[in-house]
Amino acid sequence: MANTEQLVTQRLTESGIRYSRGRRAVIDALSVADGPRSAAELHRDLAEAVPLSSLYRSLSVLTDADVVTMHHGSRGVTRYELSEWLTGHHHHLVCLSCGTVDDITPPPDLEADLESVVISLTVAGRFSPKGHALEIEGFCSECA
Ligand SMILES: [Zn+2]
Ligand SMILES: [Zn+2]
Repeated sequence: MANTEQLVTQRLTESGIRYSRGRRAVIDALSVADGPRSAAELHRDLAEAVPLSSLYRSLSVLTDADVVTMHHGSRGVTRYELSEWLTGHHHHLVCLSCGTVDDITPPPDLEADLESVVISLTVAGRFSPKGHALEIEGFCSECA
């Protein structure tokens, strides 16, 4: 598997987007995050080394290039994560108290079960499923 850095570089080059130091910092921070991060959280993760305004601009450019995907939380907070073609398919654990969102990757047999549930739910209707995303709401270990 090629590393994230190479794949992102390749995608941005193809899209004619400069892989600036600020954008690289955003990608690096998202690479080590264990779930989607809001702009404010990224700003903190980056020790405020990247101004918030340029952070928002970078996130917008990276989202347009499909390197980053937006995650719309249940409480209206927009978070960002690396797109699934970079990180692999996964689901989310959403804390109802602090709002933290963590990634969760089911073992392959459970993922296959989820896939068959999706197909069962849509087979009768005129809808062709192309993907799914599970949001499990509850309380994280800090808030439980
Ligand atoms: Zn929590
Ligand atoms: Zn899945």
